[in-house]
Amino acid sequence: MKLSRRGFQGHRLHFDLTVIKAILVILGVAALMFAAVSPAVWADRTSLKPGVNIFTPEQDIELGKQNAAQAEKQLRMLKDPKVDNYLNDLGKKLATRAPGYKYPYQYKCVNDIAVNAFALPGGYVYINRGAIEAADTEAQLAGVMAHETSHVALRHGTSQATKAQLTSVPFAILGGIVGGNSAGGLLAQLAGSFSLNSILLKYSRSDESQADVMGTQILYDTGYDPRAMAQFFEKLNAETKGKQPAQFFSDHPNPGNRV
Ligand code: ZN
Repeated sequence: MKLSRRGFQGHRLHFDLTVIKAILVILGVAALMFAAVSPAVWADRTSLKPGVNIFTPEQDIELGKQNAAQAEKQLRMLKDPKVDNYLNDLGKKLATRAPGYKYPYQYKCVNDIAVNAFALPGGYVYINRGAIEAADTEAQLAGVMAHETSHVALRHGTSQATKAQLTSVPFAILGGIVGGNSAGGLLAQLAGSFSLNSILLKYSRSDESQADVMGTQILYDTGYDPRAMAQFFEKLNAETKGKQPAQFFSDHPNPGNRV
């Protein structure tokens, strides 16, 4: 009786150790699986890259700089250092999370109540006072700014200019443009003739969805709720029902489709 009891206890102890070992093995396997799976989850993230472009990133900056000077003459700039500093701090925090070429991003406020924002190549981002006022939270404003920052990072302006140029230039000269250094000459030509409503700001539908996706990724990576961008669209959509849509939507696709 005594022996069998000891034997029983011994068996229990052995059983407990086996269970503990089994748990440790399961935990170890789970840890290995997690380590193996998490990069895969990360790789599931939509990876976006700039499209066809005959310009260099330096030329993006040059083209943006010239158009920014022109834009600031035409628009009513708020010119309040407190507001511009705030936008710059927020914008640069977002821009460090933007992939690709590190443009010298700068953010300025336009004294216009229309809910709108736009970005020129090379990192010149403009946010209307109306967009700041319409946002309920910093994350919502950051969403609009992250969207515009993504247009810059994905080089949508000069990519559109490239496509327009490639389709309008006779095939014989095309080789020269792509192969030679005539992008510089083309740049001078574009800088001289382009206005604000130029091709630089006429993004395609796919450009807009790309900026929405990358903007959401930037929001997440900066530590903001990535849903904030969609929330802002929903809010503005609800507020403008039956009325004139906010400027940001007349320049951009239907908010309901974007959410
Ligand atoms: Zn856009």
